Amino acid sequence: MPTRLPEIVDYRQRSIVGCLCCGNQQLRHETQIVSGFLAARAWGGPPQATQLAYCGACGFRFFDCGLSAIETARYYRGYRNPEYLATRRRWEPFYTPRQHAAQVEWSRSTQRIDALREALAGSAAPRHFVSALDHGGNEGHMLAAVAADRKAVFDPSGCATLDGIEAFSDANLLPGGWDLILSCQVLEHVSAPAQYLRDLAALLADGGLLYVEVPAEAWRPAPGSRKLRDACLRLLLRNRPLLIAADVLCTASRIKLGRLPPLGFVAMREHLNYFTTESVQALLCNSGFVIDASGINSTGQIFALARKTTTNDDPLGEGDDVGRHLVADPSAKPAVRRPGATLRVQSGEIGV
Ligand SMILES: [Zn+2]
Repeated sequence: MPTRLPEIVDYRQRSIVGCLCCGNQQLRHETQIVSGFLAARAWGGPPQATQLAYCGACGFRFFDCGLSAIETARYYRGYRNPEYLATRRRWEPFYTPRQHAAQVEWSRSTQRIDALREALAGSAAPRHFVSALDHGGNEGHMLAAVAADRKAVFDPSGCATLDGIEAFSDANLLPGGWDLILSCQVLEHVSAPAQYLRDLAALLADGGLLYVEVPAEAWRPAPGSRKLRDACLRLLLRNRPLLIAADVLCTASRIKLGRLPPLGFVAMREHLNYFTTESVQALLCNSGFVIDASGINSTGQIFALARKTTTNDDPLGEGDDVGRHLVADPSAKPAVRRPGATLRVQSGEIGV
């Protein structure tokens, strides 16, 4: 049986229940900023402070603030269409058309597809599947790495899929019983990761496989006094041009150098969660999966291939609403589970 992870009680304070991957209650917190773009789009507010929680047990980092289902729908409506891009650039001048094009090109690259092919070939996964679903897969490029009789994409954006790939955009109409589900570059966007994985488990056939890929985003935190830093962030929140300039500097430093400048911050935008290999493993083990393989793939992304362990679509036996708004069980004793002997782990991440 999977270990029970505490359930999120408040999407504005996700860390109240402890680590969302391993359940550790001893988290460190650091003030960060919700980007003006996200705040305006998701709930019509100005940029604001939030906390970034850090779990010393599994290395997971996540913003205290998440998005409700309604806010998520608002934020991703017309995702990356011209209006979305124009609004985003008003807050984030570094999100240029060139940057956007590079991101799209990478998402469709053969390197990504090859990395998935290698992960499947290096595991005990079947060489051919009856059915494969890419959950959140846009046009379905990643399915090129998979041999399957039936291929489909679920994507709420409703974008057209490549030839030979079925498209689903309504979760209520999505059938279950899939032998393989891909979830690539999705978990970092999700406000309730354990619930999301349990939903995927319910869509899998018994013994079905799940392939997860998330970015390996790590950085050294900002040096400097916490009190001074918090005061600086409060000042930035009152001055939009300064906030944008500081965001440009901090983002460039974090992405290019792997560290934040003194008193620097991480803006919460699309990514709500920052995983390590160990935190992905813990999350999967605590959501009804056994890990076949995991590590860093050839494109530098964290991946895991995991098998559904339960024959029950509702492994905790608590009904469909479990994990959405329930109060955490104080008797729960979640822990970082160590995967089995087939695990392959490589970690090249920057320490925090
Ligand atoms: Zn943890």
